[in-house]
Order: sequence, then structure tokens, then C-alpha cells
Amino acid sequence: MIVGAGFAGYRTAQTLSRLARGRAEIVLLNPTDYFLYLPLLPQVAAGILEPRRVTVSLSGTLPHVRLVLGQADRIDLDARQVHYTGPEDEGGTLSYDRLVLAAGSVNKLLPIPGVAEHAHGFRGLPEALYLRDHVTRQVELAAATDDPKACAARCTFVVVGAGYTGTEVAAHGQLFTDSQVAKHPMRTGMRPRWMLLDIADRVLPELDERLSRTADGVLRRRGVDVRMGTSVKEATPDGVLLTDGEFVDTKTLVWCVGVRPDPLAESLGLPMERGRLLVDPHLQVPGRPEVFACGDAAAVPDLEKPGSYTPMTAQHAWRQGKVAAHNIAASFGDGERRAYRHKDLGFVVDLGGVKAAANPLGVNLSGPVAGAVTRGYHLAAMPGNRVRVAADWLLDAVLPRQAVQLGLVRSWSVPLDTASPELARVGGPERQRQSAERPPESGDGTRPEPPRPGTEPARNQPGGEPARNQPGGEPAKSQPGGEPAKNQPGGEPAKNQPAVTPPPDQPPPGPDVSPGPVRRTDRFTEGDS
Ligand SMILES: Cc1cc2nc3c(=O)[nH]c(=O)nc-3n(C[C@H](O)[C@H](O)[C@H](O)COP(=O)(O)OP(=O)(O)OC[C@H]3O[C@@H](n4cnc5c(N)ncnc54)[C@H](O)[C@@H]3O)c2cc1C
Repeated sequence: MIVGAGFAGYRTAQTLSRLARGRAEIVLLNPTDYFLYLPLLPQVAAGILEPRRVTVSLSGTLPHVRLVLGQADRIDLDARQVHYTGPEDEGGTLSYDRLVLAAGSVNKLLPIPGVAEHAHGFRGLPEALYLRDHVTRQVELAAATDDPKACAARCTFVVVGAGYTGTEVAAHGQLFTDSQVAKHPMRTGMRPRWMLLDIADRVLPELDERLSRTADGVLRRRGVDVRMGTSVKEATPDGVLLTDGEFVDTKTLVWCVGVRPDPLAESLGLPMERGRLLVDPHLQVPGRPEVFACGDAAAVPDLEKPGSYTPMTAQHAWRQGKVAAHNIAASFGDGERRAYRHKDLGFVVDLGGVKAAANPLGVNLSGPVAGAVTRGYHLAAMPGNRVRVAADWLLDAVLPRQAVQLGLVRSWSVPLDTASPELARVGGPERQRQSAERPPESGDGTRPEPPRPGTEPARNQPGGEPARNQPGGEPAKSQPGGEPAKNQPGGEPAKNQPAVTPPPDQPPPGPDVSPGPVRRTDRFTEGDS
């Protein structure tokens, strides 16, 4: 039984399926019916790739694996059972002989006022779709106004976190908005401005310094306002207050400060290392030899760098998945158990256009050569959909980019603080508000769980609606929030609200930890209803 079909879980299922040759039942539990190739997500936000290109059908590519759609809520290690909730809010239980926990990671929050309310993360397809629409809309609205202040706020885009995600988002974002303005200049004559902030002293702080220099040069030449040693002190509806005291008017705050492991790992009550489930080099949980963990959710000892754990990268997750599969087979007497050991083969960072920064096998590359190597690497690494991705790249090279907003993903449906970035919330802002209100305690002192993203609430709960939605789904037509906004696709929550402070009953967050669920106090205009 494998929980999570990302890089680690998909590879475990694929390898195990090949090793077992029908001698085992392999069950894969995942909230979506696809594997998501996360490294190409910035290209979805920038309109280069259509969203389905970066997905790979699970049932289509893993024919001998039983796919169960749902999210694991609770794992009973003693009973060897996983309790889950399906896409239509139906509960279920699955038993296992061997368990692989590969639930990945979610957006990391920092206890900075206003961020949970006004920023959006970049960890799933809904967030990428939201950003693409939101940016397009801001440029369109900025282009139509004669007010320089309003125009500047709309076409200033702030990205926090200069790791590979934030760097790629800013690099692609500047190209995307410049191409929009080239076709339809602003009445004020302004050019969209992307800002990239990080408290570190260089972009790509975890990577080789030469990659940092290449990326930094490309960003600055392109016009991105790169500010290292700077972060956000407070986010408000009108903009962000930076740590250097400057207030930047903006309608866009993209939060790429990193990730934290999926909360499911924490819920097991097993030894953890910085929120990741501690495993031995064979990817087994000490004292629970039937439980394996890999990918972002697991703290795997790095045998190449004794005393440290492997970083949260796709490269490690993919290779750990293969080792987990071999060790499961070995636990049934098929082959030898092996320890996970892998030396980084280098990194590729796509900077848009023909530019990239890459160091395959330690060889530093920049410019078009790096661009070609980066795209070749992604094509080789994707487990499917390669031709479609290549076709989109070809089309993007010869045709102008399509800057239209479909408005299918709204601001309220992709909150920053979520355990399920892969699913857009459904049910409309009214229901989100209701679920954010903590329901009264029941007689046994417990509180009912709020509805999960992508699922329906029980019929007798506040906001209960008939089960209509599919995983990651759009709101059902007859539900509140189900209709496209009449005059503004994907309209934003009104931004002229007073700055939001956490409600008094909310526990204060600790250092460097998620401040926990935050009651969202956004108000919704008709355009976002
Ligand atoms: C925008 C972006 C760009 C990136 N670019 C790169 C890059 O260029 N190179 C690189 O090496 N790394 C990159 N990474 C990091 C890399 O994607 C992750 O390290 C990798 O995805 C980790 O793999 P995983 O299998 O642990 O988790 P994931 O790939 O996130 O998969 C986790 C899976 O578990 C599922 N899941 C979660 N909770 C549950 C639950 N309760 N029940 C059931 N299923 C659940 C999720 O839906 C998902 O399918 C990038 C990450 C992002 C966000």
C-alpha cells in the first residue's frame, strides 16, 4: 500500500509492479488520478505549457496497480490500516502488509502577519492556474487605467523565496508579462515589475554558487528586481512591508519560501527529524519494519554526507522510490535489501526563453546550451506526456503566448495554509468562511473536522451540499461559488479591507513552524462569489 503518487510513490509503484509480476496486490492511494511533474509548474503559470501536459495518468501508466482516489486521514500502525476520505467524502479503510508513506510536502508558512491571508503558494496545479489567471488579469487591469499608482500596484509582482521555485517563477513571470505588454502597452507607459526577495545573500542559496551567479545575471538583465537579504515583514491588502522598511504597493504575493512535510507524517507519532519521518538507510521506520517512507516526507540519512539527511528534491524522491520497492520485494525474500545512496547528478534551473542555469555532472552551463540541456533533462525525466510537452515548447517558440484568463481557480480556493495543495477548495467563499468558523464542541469535547479540500461536507453540516465534485474539481454548477463571476473572471477578494490580524482564539505560532490553520477573513466581492 503506497500513500501518495508523487515522485517517490509513483516510482515505488512502478518498480514494485515490475518486480512483483502479478504476485502482489499493489494499492496506490492518491487524491488525484495523476502524477504531477512539479518542476515544470512555473511553465504552466507562465502560459508555456497547458496544465494537463505536466500530469501523467496513474491508471494509464500503472496498469497493474490498484488506484484508490482519496486522502489518507489516519494510519493505524498496530492494526495496519489506512483510513482515507474519497473525492465524494466517502470514507474508506485499506489494510496493508507493507506501507510506503510518500505523501510529499506542503507550503511552508512563517509567522509573518498577513501572509496566510494575502499570499499564495506554489505547490500544486490549482495554484499555478490561479497565478496564471491572476497575473494576466492584473496586467489587463493595469493596462486600462490612467492612474499611475493603481497601475504600479497591479503590475508589481512580489515573489518571496529565491530557491529554484521562486527563481523560476520570477524569471518566467517577467517574460510572460513583458510579452503581454508588448502586444497591449499600458496607458501609463509602465513596464511590469517582478521582485524576487530572500533573506539569503544570493539567489538559489542551496545550490552551487556558479548556478547562483548565472541565474542572478539573467534575472537582473531581464529587469527582475532582485533583493537579497530582504524579506516581508507584513502583508496587507494593499501591499507588503519589507524588512528594510520600504512599503511596496502590490496585488500579488507569491510565497515560495520552501516546503514542510505533509502533516500526515507528523500524525503517526513516530520519531521525526525537522518534521520529516525518520527512517534508516533502507528507508524503513525503526521499530516498524513493515513501514517505509521516502521522498520529501522522510528524513533519509545521506550516506554521501554523513550526519545529514537527503534534501527535498525530485531527484532523491524518484531514486528513493526505486530503493523502497526493491526493499519491499526483499522483505518477501525476492532479492537483497539495499541502502539508499545517491550522489547529486547536478541541478537544472529553467529561466525561460532559451536561458537556464545547469550543472549536469558538475559541469557548469549557462545560456542556450543550458536551456537545451534543461529541457532535454525534463523530457527524459518525465514518466509520460513527453511529446505533448515538446509540442507545447515548439508552439511557444513560434507563436505568441496566449494571455487569457479562464477564471476557473479563485483566490479563496487556493489558500496558502493547506495540507492539500494538489486540490482546489470547492464550495464557494461562503462555505470556506463557514468551515473556517470553528464549530461548537460536541459532548465528548471534540470538534468535527472541517470539510477537506476537494471533498464535499456531510449533508447535515454547515455548507453541506450534494456530492457532485470530482478530485481537484470545479465547483458543481448549482453550488454557491459554482458560477463564473459575471463580470470578472476569477475576481479577487476585495483588497480594500483593513489589515487582518489573527483572531484572538488562535494559538500563537512558534518559530519557523506553520502558524496552523488561520481563519481566513477575506471578504468576497461579487466577482469572486
Ligand atoms: C514548483 C516546484 C518546482 C520544483 N522543481 C524541482 C526541480 O527542478 N528539481 C528537483 O529536484 N526538485 C524540484 N522540486 C521539488 C520536488 O518536486 C519534490 O522534492 C518532489 O516532488 C518530492 O517528491 P515526493 O514524492 O516526496 O512528493 P510529491 O511529488 O509532492 O508527491 C506527494 C504525493 O502525495 C499525495 N498526498 C499528499 N498527502 C496525501 C494523503 N494524505 N493521502 C494520500 N496522498 C497524499 C500528493 O497528492 C502527491 O501526489 C520542485 C518543487 C516545486 C513545488
